[in-house]
Amino acid sequence: MTTRTTGDPSAGPPARAGETGGEEARKVLLASPRSLCAGVERAIETVERVLADRGAPVYVRKQIVHNVHVVDDLRRRGAVFVEELDEVPPGATVVFSAHGVSPAVREQAAARELRVIDATCPLVTKVHVEARRFAARGDTVVLIGHAGHEEVEGTMGEAPERTVLVQTPAEAAALEVEDPGRVSYLTQTTLAVDETAEVVEALRARFPALTGPGSDDICYATTNRQRAVSEVAADADLVLVIGSANSSNSVRLVELARRRGVAAHLIDDVGDIRPEWLRDARAVGVSAGASAPHHLVEEVVAFLRELGPIQVTEHRHTIETVRFAAPKEVRTP
Ligand code: SF4
Repeated sequence: MTTRTTGDPSAGPPARAGETGGEEARKVLLASPRSLCAGVERAIETVERVLADRGAPVYVRKQIVHNVHVVDDLRRRGAVFVEELDEVPPGATVVFSAHGVSPAVREQAAARELRVIDATCPLVTKVHVEARRFAARGDTVVLIGHAGHEEVEGTMGEAPERTVLVQTPAEAAALEVEDPGRVSYLTQTTLAVDETAEVVEALRARFPALTGPGSDDICYATTNRQRAVSEVAADADLVLVIGSANSSNSVRLVELARRRGVAAHLIDDVGDIRPEWLRDARAVGVSAGASAPHHLVEEVVAFLRELGPIQVTEHRHTIETVRFAAPKEVRTP
């Protein structure tokens, strides 16, 4: 991990001369990486491009990414978010969200003659491909994930008759399958790395011939944000994670900080910060989930600066360089 004082755009301006004199400055520890991942940037950009090319309204199935600010902003610009495709007029354009959809949803879109633009994150698509491959060779596919999450619904839909959802080590240990010699597992992309390892361990203990994906399904962005927040939590009295309540990777960051023994809270924005959280917090860690825009971090730092002197430090776990090409329907030539 490298540490430097300010410099990052989301750190806001450096502490002013005198800010750290007199009253002891509160430390603000910025976990890095934080905020938008490549899959979320691609999904938001997809809706923006469709709006620019085809004009409003643009229908989007489910929230394009799990962040209230992103959704509200796109809605103001002409996006119409629907829960299911029967709310979309026949023949209209619909964007599928970053979390992916099941084959049944694709079939429904075709039946309604909708023009589909698929903003599913390529790393979610990778898990769908694995689900099809494992199911096709006759395995029971154990999907480790959270019931009801859109990504889980989409992945399970690839082979519903061969896939079972497991959420905890206890469920893994009690699992009954058709053929214990033919079991493979996959995971949701936004799980806690340490907790998932425990579930996989319990599965392997129960099914020694267990096979898994070629490379981790928990994505690079989830892993990096967890490592960064874990490092910051070691030096913080309080950790604030910016993200919405339905953002799986954001919620995992809060839980992880708490497991490290630090008070931690999920906030949609600066308006959610309660004064009592800050009363005894001389070092405040700040992170943001993969669907939370950078400006929300800047606003939190600015708010903390208004309360008194601060010393902002960037704690860099790694630098991310991953980028995904836009869906072909919206690519500029
Ligand atoms: Fe893709 Fe990971 Fe971002 Fe989800 S969190 S959109 S899987 S890069």
